[in-house]
Amino acid sequence: MDISNIRAIGVVGCGLMGAGIVEICARAGYDVVVREINPELLQKGLGRVKGSMAKGVEKGKLSQADMEAALAHIKGTLSLADFKDCDLVIEAAVENMQLKRTIFTELDSICRSDVILASNTSSLCVTEMAAATERPDKVLGLHFFNPVPVMPLLEIVRALLTSDETVEIGRALGEKLGKTVVIAKDRPGFIANLLFVPYSLDAIRWLDAGLASKEEIDTTMKLGFNHPMGPFTLMDFVGLDTLLFIADAMYEEFKDARYAAPPLLRRMVQAGLYGRKSGRGFYTYTK
Ligand code: NAD
Repeated sequence: MDISNIRAIGVVGCGLMGAGIVEICARAGYDVVVREINPELLQKGLGRVKGSMAKGVEKGKLSQADMEAALAHIKGTLSLADFKDCDLVIEAAVENMQLKRTIFTELDSICRSDVILASNTSSLCVTEMAAATERPDKVLGLHFFNPVPVMPLLEIVRALLTSDETVEIGRALGEKLGKTVVIAKDRPGFIANLLFVPYSLDAIRWLDAGLASKEEIDTTMKLGFNHPMGPFTLMDFVGLDTLLFIADAMYEEFKDARYAAPPLLRRMVQAGLYGRKSGRGFYTYTK
């Protein structure tokens, strides 16, 4: 098996990340089957894919003909059984280990034995998902970043039993999708979140301690270190609920105070202040 054998890609979930993954795969010429859990969510997800491509056409980044060609490659389904002819599957369902294990076990029984099964998880253990299959050597993490069509990075997660061949196919696929690939071991946070999470938690701790305002901290990181966004703007973009979930997973694994969520973060999530997506986080957003 090598990258030339991969023609059809299955995507599980057509939410924020799944829709982006569907788009880049279809634009790269792959046939894509995407599964959602009900007709409304499937329509919404496919609408998201079309909307994103239409924006690309408006901005002159994609031609109308290329958009139509890409859309013709996409098929939506409510049944994982429709993944039987896929050559590689990327799971992008919600961040819940029990659900992901169930999906991996089902995919293992539906897909040919040579098919690679990938997860887009941000924080869960890929080795544990692999253990829900009979093909742990063919399971890996393909961690895309939001928004998938725009962000140039792909983190590949090598689980304990992932084979070199699987990693190489993952790398080749990432490059075909136009991404720059880095490879990390299966540790909570991989590379990106392992560094981003303690940095963000520290920013919250120092804000809470009254060191400076959130605007001053953001400005410092932007102008002092050339970061495109300061930590509070970035946390609001990522979602404070997502950040808390990842921090808790990292603390659970490492038992290191660096990853312990500060009370202010937990209180904000309890109060429904999730960031951009809820209209308010550290900053307030109006549509
Ligand atoms: P989301 O909630 O926007 O989308 C998840 C979708 O999965 C939902 O539409 C849901 O209906 C669907 N789903 C749930 N169970 C399913 C099943 N059994 N079969 C098919 N579809 C199912 O979430 P998201 O932000 O797209 O995150 C998806 C995954 O990507 C998570 O594992 C998350 O950790 C990871 N991730 C998220 C980001 C981010 O910035 N949001 C970045 C990188 C990775």
